[in-house]
Amino acid sequence: MTSVASVIAELEPALGPKGLLKDVDIATRPAWMGNGGEGSAPALLRPATTEELSTILRICHAHGQAVVPQGGLTGLVRATVTSGSTLALSLERMNRIEDIDPVNRTMTVQAGVPLQAVQEQAEAEGLMFPLDLGARGSATIGGNVATNAGGNRVIRYGMMRDNVLGLEAVLADGTVVSSLHPMIKNNTGYDLKQLFIGSEGTLGIVTRVVLRLRQLPRSQNVGFVAVPDFNRLTDLLRRIDAALGGTLSAFEVMWRDYYELVTTAPATNRKPVATDAPYYVLIESLGSDQAADEARFEAALSEMFEAGIIVDAAIAKSQSERDAIWAMRDDVGQNARHAPIQAFDVSLKLDDMEAYVAEVNERLQARWPKATNMVFGHLGDGNLHLITGVGDGSAEARHAVEEVIYGCLRPRGGSVSAEHGIGLEKKPWLSVSRSEPEIALMRALKQALDPKDILNPGKVF
Ligand code: FAD
Ligand code: ZN
Repeated sequence: MTSVASVIAELEPALGPKGLLKDVDIATRPAWMGNGGEGSAPALLRPATTEELSTILRICHAHGQAVVPQGGLTGLVRATVTSGSTLALSLERMNRIEDIDPVNRTMTVQAGVPLQAVQEQAEAEGLMFPLDLGARGSATIGGNVATNAGGNRVIRYGMMRDNVLGLEAVLADGTVVSSLHPMIKNNTGYDLKQLFIGSEGTLGIVTRVVLRLRQLPRSQNVGFVAVPDFNRLTDLLRRIDAALGGTLSAFEVMWRDYYELVTTAPATNRKPVATDAPYYVLIESLGSDQAADEARFEAALSEMFEAGIIVDAAIAKSQSERDAIWAMRDDVGQNARHAPIQAFDVSLKLDDMEAYVAEVNERLQARWPKATNMVFGHLGDGNLHLITGVGDGSAEARHAVEEVIYGCLRPRGGSVSAEHGIGLEKKPWLSVSRSEPEIALMRALKQALDPKDILNPGKVF
């Protein structure tokens, strides 16, 4: 095996001074709220083109040199950690929107473009790229693809997987696989792009993507309701979906503790409804006619109120009120008050959720009587986020908390990662959600595409 120093020496002339930075401090790399990256690397590779990336990987492949792709560093599962001898790779210089096609409703972008730039460019054309998440300003399209990101509007528009029509990727040996098809329908053999979507940088490096755009909705209605019990919560989801005639775009639930957390000082969000209840829901509908859609939205909520499914409701009357309700939902930073904390992202069947959360709380409190567990999430997608704080950040305590969270999930057939991926953080728990034959097939794919294990080695499994 060649030393990393000699691989760098071979890469330098091919990449030039902008394309290869030595002595970078990964911890100070730009990321969400200045969090930075984790680990260290002898060099950061910054190709400006797919061809340069191909050269990089051809050289690294020849020497068995490991490479860790890094996007906006907003991932939540430690999937971008470098070790002293791995090279970091960023597509931050490949950050161009190459084409926007309003007829076919597609946008072709380089993988280093931030999500928010894509959203804004689509909107300027009267179109929408529907994927949305709190880290939109820093997260990149390449990272969104590699994690198969979810977010706030999955219930209507699907995950990243559903919004990618084609992509280009560079394989471990430098081969460029260009599948930049703009068609929605294309059943010509295996759907190769799906290999890379959600593969966390372990099967290939995504360089360019053809995104599927939608018409920009002309109306937005946001309501916030209080629900007296869990059965009525699932009832509400079904009935409001039916009543809104296909326009339901978010159904974000908060357990009472989370609602209190994000609406009490130092949080600055106001409470949209004052009634005390175990569950609260942000309901959003995106449609085509503000006046008519608002009338339907109000009628739907009145119907739920009369049926006793909700016990209080507020409907935002202006853009600033709509934004305020969303900002409250997204104010996850308030959880820092309970530090040290651990964040979980699980999915399970709706009818298992109530008992699951109750069992988790019981088991946490049995061991740590002051434990907190903030539960909220994309309930419409069967996806809950749990943020636990047990007052002990030791490795032993963290593992014990994970045992509770995943131990209660296993018998219910839930997933240890609904939308964030596996990385290093959830790697020990993959077998809770994946069988031996499934993991063996993943290994076979990895072996076929990256036989020398140079792409983000050690992540996922
Ligand atoms: P990074 O974190 O840099 O990397 C993530 C993974 O992608 C790593 O495995 C990396 O190796 C790989 N990768 C990056 N670029 C490439 C590439 N070009 N080719 C191949 N592999 C690559 N996620 C959700 O799904 N839903 C949410 O609602 C959500 N909300 C969030 C809110 C906040 C406040 C924060 C901080 C994060 C949130 N996330 C959410 C997680 C995160 O934003 C997403 O996982 C995002 O898709 C990561 O993009 P990134 O560019 O930051 O990638
Ligand atoms: Zn989420």
